[in-house]
Amino acid sequence: MRAPYAANPEKSKGRKFPEASPTYRSEFQRDRDRIIHSTGFRRLEYKTQVFVNHEGDLYRTRLTHSLEVAQIARSIARTLNLDEDLTEAISLAHDIGHTPFGHAGQDALNACMKDYGGFEHNIQSLRIIDVLEKNYADFNGLNLCFETREGVLKHCSLKNAANLGDVGERFINKKQSSLEAQLTNIADQIAYNNHDIDDGLRSGLLNIEQMREVQLFSTQYDKVMWKHPDLKGNRRIHETIRRMIGEQVVDLVETSRENIAKVNPQSIEDVRNHSEQLISFSDEMRTHNQELKKFLRENLYFHHKVYRMTRKAHQVIESLFEVFMNDLRLLPPGHLKIAREALLAEGMAGQARVIADYVAGMTDRYATREYSRLFGIEGNVF
Ligand code: MG
Repeated sequence: MRAPYAANPEKSKGRKFPEASPTYRSEFQRDRDRIIHSTGFRRLEYKTQVFVNHEGDLYRTRLTHSLEVAQIARSIARTLNLDEDLTEAISLAHDIGHTPFGHAGQDALNACMKDYGGFEHNIQSLRIIDVLEKNYADFNGLNLCFETREGVLKHCSLKNAANLGDVGERFINKKQSSLEAQLTNIADQIAYNNHDIDDGLRSGLLNIEQMREVQLFSTQYDKVMWKHPDLKGNRRIHETIRRMIGEQVVDLVETSRENIAKVNPQSIEDVRNHSEQLISFSDEMRTHNQELKKFLRENLYFHHKVYRMTRKAHQVIESLFEVFMNDLRLLPPGHLKIAREALLAEGMAGQARVIADYVAGMTDRYATREYSRLFGIEGNVF
């Protein structure tokens, strides 16, 4: 049963290009299906989460991360009687604008674009679903519902918000997003904090002794060791992490339920107008999460092996951007045409945006190959 404060596909704020309602699906189901059939979604398979795609077959990629977010978010949505289809659609699309090589790629591209409006993956996700996907006869983009687009745009600066139309307004007017969007945002954090521990331990960049400094981990780890003293290796880690996810999900559900009961919203507009987000962890869990995040930042994201990869990612992205900016004829013919048109219409900023779109759309391995083709002097790679 749908709660009165949940998003309702029959009362959607609609699509940019009006379309007839789908026959056997809700509007939000259709959005979810369009995302799965998009080119941007398929590319997530070959994009870095923390580890570069080719470093090992067992690590998370942007695709498996997005599926884990959808799994966590959907189960919470069902418990809170929110719209599961919208939650799933937002989850699957939330990282669609990521560059190759994860955050390192984004930072590098943002630096390249500093004189041309910058680059931000959230806004790029919106740009992909609104403009860059070109598969439909009647419109560019996927023509998704307002509620899905609102959820994909997790945050943005006030300066950018002013140029984003309807989905930018809430940042200017200081309003909240739907509960489905709030929920997906936190499910994203639950997913990456926990799977990064798993990948970190699997890769040997983190070890159990270090992890036991983190309270969320040590509490569940001790319980597992008490109950299953002979459990070894991956099973011990998986048992610990699944319990950590469970503990965080239960805390989120219970705290959010209390928040909702206190505020008693009667519609999605009441949710949007409330001064604070209603989907949240308890204060205690928030503190534990901050401790875990800090630990991962210091010990995994800045581990010297990851950092060396980061340096290489900067070099690949910066070099590709610069070489295309200086000579458009190095672009593939389709992109060359669009870049020339953008240069005529909007000057250098227009040209730079087309190149940023092209580079951001690359998978890790495509970017690496393109770099070898353009700069390699060994192996005759053309
Ligand atoms: Mg994510």
